[in-house]
Amino acid sequence: MFSLTPEAAEPRLPVARRTLERLRQVPELAPRYDGHADVRTLDDIAALPPLLKDDLNTALAHLRPRAEHGATWLFQSGGSTGAPKLGHAPTGFYMAGVHAHWQPLDRDDVFVNAWGAGRMWGAHFLVAALADLSQCQVIALGSVGKDEYAEWLAFFAAREVTAIGGTPSVLRLWFAHARAAGLQLPHLRKVLWLGEAWQPQVEEDMAVVAPAARRWGMFGSTETWVVGTNTPDCPADSFHTLPDQLVHVGEDQLLDFTTLNAEMLNPVLRYRTGDAGRLEPCPCGRPGRAMRVLGRRDSVVQVRGLGLHVDEVIARVEREPGVSRAQVVISETGGRAGTVEVLLLTQPGAAVDAERLRKELLAETFTLSTAFLHDPENFRVRPVTDLISNERTGKTAGLVVREEE
Ligand SMILES: [Zn+2]
Repeated sequence: MFSLTPEAAEPRLPVARRTLERLRQVPELAPRYDGHADVRTLDDIAALPPLLKDDLNTALAHLRPRAEHGATWLFQSGGSTGAPKLGHAPTGFYMAGVHAHWQPLDRDDVFVNAWGAGRMWGAHFLVAALADLSQCQVIALGSVGKDEYAEWLAFFAAREVTAIGGTPSVLRLWFAHARAAGLQLPHLRKVLWLGEAWQPQVEEDMAVVAPAARRWGMFGSTETWVVGTNTPDCPADSFHTLPDQLVHVGEDQLLDFTTLNAEMLNPVLRYRTGDAGRLEPCPCGRPGRAMRVLGRRDSVVQVRGLGLHVDEVIARVEREPGVSRAQVVISETGGRAGTVEVLLLTQPGAAVDAERLRKELLAETFTLSTAFLHDPENFRVRPVTDLISNERTGKTAGLVVREEE
C-alpha cells in the first residue's frame, strides 16, 4: 500500500527514475538493480529492492551530491555506534515544502529551539528554517547543562515564550524541571517535536506547567528529511505525509520511503528506516490516509535465546509514577546476556521502589522470568542520575548492549 494514489504519484515518478539512474552508477549497488531499468508506475517502485542504512552511505560516498544553490550540509545520519554516517542537504533543508502544508508557528510566536546544535546534528537547523519561513522570534538555545534549567525557564517566562521544540527526551527534561521547581509557562501554546516517538509522560508535566500547550510533531530522518507532520488533533503516532514523500508499507508492515522531490540530494528510493507502520484514516478528520508508526521492528533483542521487547519493558516502567525515563542495558559475555538491567531516571524529588518494580517485571515478563529462572539476581532495576548516552550522536537509546571481557 502506498501513501499516494497512482494519479498523484505517477506525474512525479521522473524523480524516482533519476534516483534509480544515480543508484545504478554505484558499483556496489548496481547489480541489485539488474532488470529494474525504469520506474513508470507504483508497481515498478514496489518491485525495486529496498535500500538499508548502509546502502545510502555507500551511495553517497560514490555520488558525492552537491546542492544546486547555496551550501551542501553534511549531517549525522542513522547508526548509534561507530563512525558518523552522513546525510546531505541543501540550505533550507526542504522546509519550504513542509511549511506549505504545516504551519505550527506564526509571526507572533516566541520560539525556543532546544534541539542540540553542532556535532553535525540536523534537527536544530531544519527547525530554524521552518522558523524563518514562519517569521517568528527565535531563541536558538540548543542543549543546556543540568544546572541551567531553572535560570533559562525563568528567562522563558519573562520573554513570554509561546513555543518550544526539541526531541521528546529533551522536552521531558524541560517540563520535569519546570514542574519540580513549581514554575509555570502560561504563554506556552506550542510544543514542536521530532527525532523520537512522542512520550505521553511529557503531556502530564505539560498539563501542570503549561496548560495551554499542545504538541505538533514531525516524522523524518536525516536520510529522508521530513516525511510527515501532525497536529494536536492527530494521535501522536500518526503523521500526514507530504506529497513529495512516497511512503510504502511492505512485508511485515515495514515502511519504506521514496523521495519525489527533485532537489533531494540523498538518493532515497525504497529506503527502509526499520520503522513499521500502517496507512489509515486519521481521527482528526483530514481526508486521505495518515501514516501510523507502530515502532521499530528491530526493538526485539535476544536474551538467552528468547526475544525481549525492549520498547514494551520501557513503556511499562515509564508508566510508574516518579520515573521520567528508563533504559535497558544488556551486558553480554561472548554474545550471551550475563545481566539485564533497567536503569531508571527519576523525577526530581521522587522515590521509586526499584525492588518492587523488579519483582513485578520478572513476574509479568515471560522472557525475563524464563531467562533468569536460575539466577534472578542478574536481572536488576536501578535508579540512576544519568542514563547512558552515545557521546557522539547525543542520543540516549532505549537499549544499550555492552560486551564485557
Ligand atoms: Zn490527523
